[in-house]
Order: sequence, then C-alpha cells, then structure tokens
Amino acid sequence: MKKPRGVLIAGNWKMNHGLSETNGFFDILSAQSKAALPKNAEGLLKSGALRALVIPTATSLQTARNRTEKNPFPLAIGAQNAHGEKSGAFTGEISGPMLQELNIRWVLIGHSERRQFFGETDSSVRKRCEGLLSQGFHVMLCVGETRAERERGETFKILERQLSGVFAEPEKGAATFLDGRLVLAYEPVWAIGTGLTATPEQAEEAHQMIRKWLWDHFGMDASGRTPILYGGSVTPQNIDSLLACANIDGGLVGGASLKPDSFLALLAAGAKALS
Ligand code: PEP
Repeated sequence: MKKPRGVLIAGNWKMNHGLSETNGFFDILSAQSKAALPKNAEGLLKSGALRALVIPTATSLQTARNRTEKNPFPLAIGAQNAHGEKSGAFTGEISGPMLQELNIRWVLIGHSERRQFFGETDSSVRKRCEGLLSQGFHVMLCVGETRAERERGETFKILERQLSGVFAEPEKGAATFLDGRLVLAYEPVWAIGTGLTATPEQAEEAHQMIRKWLWDHFGMDASGRTPILYGGSVTPQNIDSLLACANIDGGLVGGASLKPDSFLALLAAGAKALS
C-alpha cells in the first residue's frame, strides 16, 4: 500500500452544526456519496485503509452517531474534548463513560483553541489523554506552534515540549497506548482557520521530526504505526500535495469539513492517495 498507515480524514466541526444542520449534513452526505466518491473508496472505507471521522459539538453527538448507522459508508464520530476522570465535580465537562453510553470511541484532545482560549496546558492535556486512553478511547492529540514561535525558529522546540508534556511518565502514561489508538495531529496554530496552509515541505518536516521523536523515545514499531495528521486550512484543493508526503497520514479539517460535498471531496482525495 502506498500509505502504510492508511489515510484518516477527520472533520472538526468546532462550535458549528446544531441538530438540524447535523441532520442536513447527513442527508446530503448519504445522497451524494455514491456520485462523489471514486469506485475504490467503498472497499477502502470498509477495510479501514481509508477512515472517516466527524467531530461534532457535544449537543450534536448523539444525533450524528445515530445517523452513522444508516450512512452508506463507515464513519466514526468523535468528541471535541473530554475529561480524564470518569465522574466528579468538573462543571461543564464530559466524561469517557458518558461518551461510551453514546457509543463514541474517539476524542480530540489538546486542540490549539482549547489551549489558547480555555487554558489547557501540557499537563491537563496529558491527564485527559491518559484517562481516556486507559478507558479504551482512540485519542487524537493536537500539537503545533504559533506564528511567533515559528518566526523565532522554535517550531521543533515547541513540538518537543508538547510531546514531552504528554509522555512525561511513559511507564504509566500515553506511551503505553502507542498501539494505533493514539493519533497525533500536527496543527500549526498560524494555519488554523486562516487560509494559510503550511506548505507540504513545512508540514512534512514537522511530521518527520514528530516521527523521529516517537522513534527515539518509544522505538521503531510505535513510531511506524502512529498516524500523524496535518491540520490547518486543509481544503479539497490542497490536500493532494499534503497526502503525497510520506509522513502525512491524513487531515484534521475544520472549515472544509462542514459541507458534505467538501468532506466527500476530501475523502475522495484520501482514496486517490491510497490507489
Ligand atoms: C481545525 O479545526 O483543527 C482546523 C485545522 O481548522 P481549519 O481547517 O478551518 O483551519
């Protein structure tokens, strides 16, 4: 296979799409998927070589999950955040068991908007990752530098700090779960929602650094099996050149995942990258 870890296309809906828009998205997705996806996509989606994930806001999770049952192709649903503890006095939070009741197996953790606007730190991100991974979730962990950090030449230093923060206690922490359930997303903050996509060279350089960091700390197998997605103004127009890079295993996509035709075009690009 051209991409040894397959391709994962994840749509982060952020604070968009309430119930009626979620239903509308799935109505159009079902109706258009046959025409929009290439012939080989169905087999790739069924085998899991190509994976589709939608990450709606909390109040749309159950509806989205129910709609996937009749979706013409396998599509997973993930939450945008969750607490590492199973229950307790954590107002405003959602726990793993609550997501399990909805049959949701994926959680996004450490998105830069959580770090920037809601005070998430390397340490809180680590606790969430550890708790959720130990409860059996697939966790997508986001890392990435700000524009000022890139301009100061600190990109690798920041990535190293964010990775070390999460894997601080490898024997009992996230490192135990480098079994394919932990997916990393490199999302340069300056590229998120700005229309400024990293060039494939910039993205691949950061992905190589992350993969080498995983190799140095946890060995070849863990490094080789961990998918690393790129996120930051990915569109159907620029995804091909990103997926052509050896260490880019998919996309974490915000704006361009909100419309079903655009989400299908991203999946079609994933199928093309695998052919
Ligand atoms: C994101 O939400 O993680 C993201 C990358 O957003 P956008 O694609 O809109 O830049």
